[in-house]
Amino acid sequence: MLLQKERELVVEYGRKMSAGRLCTGTSGNISVYVPERGLMAISPSGIGYFDTRPEDVVVTDLEANIVDGTRKPSSEWALHTLFYKNKPHIRAVVHTHSMYCTTFAVLGRPLRAVHYAIADAGAAEIPCTPYYPFGTLELAEAAVETAGDSDAVLLGNHGLVACGKDLAGAYGLALNMEYVAELQYRALCIGTPNVLGKEAMEDVMERFKSYGQPEGRKTGY
Ligand code: 13P
Ligand code: ZN
Repeated sequence: MLLQKERELVVEYGRKMSAGRLCTGTSGNISVYVPERGLMAISPSGIGYFDTRPEDVVVTDLEANIVDGTRKPSSEWALHTLFYKNKPHIRAVVHTHSMYCTTFAVLGRPLRAVHYAIADAGAAEIPCTPYYPFGTLELAEAAVETAGDSDAVLLGNHGLVACGKDLAGAYGLALNMEYVAELQYRALCIGTPNVLGKEAMEDVMERFKSYGQPEGRKTGY
């Protein structure tokens, strides 16, 4: 089976995403990109994460050609490919409809630096796109443009996209963004959160470079 390891990873993380309540039902999608082969393994459209088997995961190139698999790829296929085309350092994309991120996406409001963990996205603020229908090229283009240098972006009235240098990183970023969004929501319920300034966030990003174990063994921030 082509890209067997990557297809197995898509299945494994789809189950994590569902069990971890980052998505409801068949919402959200996951892909892993292998640049050496120019191929991506992407979750199939509309199949429950616990019903998805590695052979249901679809292998495509970045130009809309299905290379292996019998299922229809995720309707957000273009969203995933545009991120790979525009962010050469990434190898995985996770799209969720997680509750707190989507709450701010419904308001069209960015995630702010209410906690330093936001720096996992390589940015001090997670911007939000205007609303576009799911599965459209317009949504994909707006997501990439709005994200800019950030590895995470909110999709207006829809959800979150998180990118990573591997699937563990992209999934960890989606979790961290949900954590920051929940904190921001809770803090706003009882007061006005202190938002960390530019200098503090630049310092955190510098510290993240040497956080944890030596390069190659990191799985998150
Ligand atoms: P798919 O099941 O086609 O991946 O769609 C889910 C989704 O979240 C659309 O934005
Ligand atoms: Zn979606």
